[in-house]
Amino acid sequence: MTTECWLARAVPQAQHLIPYVPGKPIETLLREKGLSHAIKLASNENPFGPPPKAIQAFKNSAEHLHLYPDGDAIRLKQAIAQHHKILPSQIVVGNGSNEVLELIIRTFAGAGDEVIYSQKAFIVYALATTASGATGIAVPDTAMLGHDLCAMADAITEKTKIICIANPNNPTGTLLGNDEIQAMLNRIPEHIIVLLDEAYTQFVTESIGDSVAKLSHPGLVISRTFSKAYGLAGCRVGYAIMDASVVSVVNRFREPFNVNLPAQEAAIAALHDGAWVEDKVRYILEARQKLENELERLGVLGGQSYANFVLLKHPEAACLVNKLEDIGIIVRPLAGYGMVDFLRITVGTEIENLHLVQALASILPTLSTAA
Ligand SMILES: *Cc1c(COP(=O)(O)O)cnc(C)c1O
Repeated sequence: MTTECWLARAVPQAQHLIPYVPGKPIETLLREKGLSHAIKLASNENPFGPPPKAIQAFKNSAEHLHLYPDGDAIRLKQAIAQHHKILPSQIVVGNGSNEVLELIIRTFAGAGDEVIYSQKAFIVYALATTASGATGIAVPDTAMLGHDLCAMADAITEKTKIICIANPNNPTGTLLGNDEIQAMLNRIPEHIIVLLDEAYTQFVTESIGDSVAKLSHPGLVISRTFSKAYGLAGCRVGYAIMDASVVSVVNRFREPFNVNLPAQEAAIAALHDGAWVEDKVRYILEARQKLENELERLGVLGGQSYANFVLLKHPEAACLVNKLEDIGIIVRPLAGYGMVDFLRITVGTEIENLHLVQALASILPTLSTAA
């Protein structure tokens, strides 16, 4: 049988699903180009590796790999609860926050329901909504590429089950104040789930207020990840904080052992390596500023970012991606978000950033359209 035949047999929404395109792995580029060395600035990973305490905990867990992990992840949830001054019963952990986002959407939305998100918000909201059989309502961004919270609230109908907000947003790097978010929450019905995705929150130094302590709405779900600032993208651990009454419903859809044993151990240790994380975040923020200054000097800065990546804007962005890959630098094209002129570039180590800036300075003048 052909793929078309199986697609006709699959659930109806399968027709509309397009698989997520991740940043190109280093090994793939090396093979494609016959290079011996490449750097990846495409997936917003921590360029300094995992926290040392997490590496040790991961290694120590090897001796217990014959055992199932704690399906309730109680030690991890206790560590997270302590970190946020909340209760373990308010937490759902997942195989990356991606799994938690999908769980929330699958739990509350299905055929006939609507999920609202911003047009240039993290694409997983649209993918998970389609996969659930619900209808995605993509609300246009503001002129500054940010979420238009008023327009999102105005888009609510009888069918609305969930509103997704990414703060800061990936891929646009935009930031909302928690006072703005609370003003929106005050406007919307209590039974709507508001999924606030804070994957990059550790990189925010602006005083926007603590969302976990300050925001109030019965259906508020705040998601966090160990993949970005905490340097554990390969482990796949994330979590979300919500009312315990919501947790009980979401847990009905959760696989029994969804976070593996080494991942649980590494995440607990990473939470205990806070000084390491703070130190790396401080470096990344300084380097982001330097990188944005360089992009501005080269005339290709695509906007201000509040996360661990910068935005580049150039009419020949696609050509630039190829030329950077030719010399072993992987960045992220944003055509999938309708942002054909933009590239998203993760802040790397000092050497990586220097290498990138030198490459841009030599490639940009060779492109036919000047910046
Ligand atoms: C990276 C990212 C995530 C998910 O990361 P996980 O590795 O699945 O935890 C979630 N939201 C946004 C906006 C992201 O950029």
